[in-house]
Amino acid sequence: MKAASSMSLLLFVSRETFFEYVNSSEKACNLWQEYGIMVDSIFDGEELTSMGKVIAIVNQKGGVGKTTTAVNLAAAIGSAGYRVLLADIDPQGNATTGLGVNKKQLTVSSYEVLIGGAKSSDAIIATQFQNLWLMPSSMNLAGAELELVELSQREAKMKSALALVRDDYDFVFMDCPPTLGLITINALVACDTLMVPIQCEYFALEGLSQLMGTVRQVKRLWNPLIDIEGVALTMYDGRLNLTQAVVDEVKRFFPRRVYSAVIPRNVRLSEAPSFGKPVMYYDSLSRGTMSYKDLANEFLAQNACGEQLSSPQ
Ligand code: ATP
Ligand code: MG
Repeated sequence: MKAASSMSLLLFVSRETFFEYVNSSEKACNLWQEYGIMVDSIFDGEELTSMGKVIAIVNQKGGVGKTTTAVNLAAAIGSAGYRVLLADIDPQGNATTGLGVNKKQLTVSSYEVLIGGAKSSDAIIATQFQNLWLMPSSMNLAGAELELVELSQREAKMKSALALVRDDYDFVFMDCPPTLGLITINALVACDTLMVPIQCEYFALEGLSQLMGTVRQVKRLWNPLIDIEGVALTMYDGRLNLTQAVVDEVKRFFPRRVYSAVIPRNVRLSEAPSFGKPVMYYDSLSRGTMSYKDLANEFLAQNACGEQLSSPQ
């Protein structure tokens, strides 16, 4: 509740303002009085310099908006002043192309990091966008599912690789492939939280029980602290009865986990990747840009006050 009520007031605070605020007890107190955010109990007086939080963007259903969310949310958070790494671990490499990177010119990618033991710092490249770095994908990744099977600690390769770099960033997002194979398992083992984009259409919840079953297994075996960051509703059209029915269903499935900010269907969002740009650098005034900025604000507000739950609409 506190996060939601503060959201409109916490519009796109810069990284510096945020850290300055939470590191100052007097200002923390002001924040509490002004906006109702309890920060002092969460940060416990410790200096906060980097959170290095890792978020896997997952849904094994194809075409639901994982990559669109990964690219545009990462860019929006980067533009607010936070250091963001986007790891493209989908063999399709759509996030890599969507950030204007030519896969053919890469020598080290997330494939070499997962399979070959390459250091993630050798794969990570700066993008032309503010505060946004990319661990690109390559076609080779298509064979990684099979190659991983042969390796020991096969489920923890990405966790080990990210351990060396995660604190260089405030947030690390992983754009997962539309499968629940070993690559996605690696993401679930490496992450602190998972974000689930859900397309507002028929069969939206199809496969989610399977996804949650996999998450429970990962939690039991390898990652006891894994939690759900939030559920993002994509291709939302509030005029349709179907959309409302899907939203109600999703909220029943994920009580109090669904973001208030929704992503509408917007042609600019589908055009931007062919220009190799996040939508905010392609059409800064589009509904797509606004909706991902709203989602970024909600994400930042939740993380700023340590809450992982969003209030239902
Ligand atoms: P995959 O499972 O294949 O990786 P995905 O879940 O990553 O797919 P996207 O690639 O983000 O899904 O989106 C699928 C298609 O829908 C893309 O062509 C994308 O441009 C388009 N798209 C995604 N979100 C929107 C939106 N809100 N409005 C319009 N088009 C969208
Ligand atoms: Mg994708």
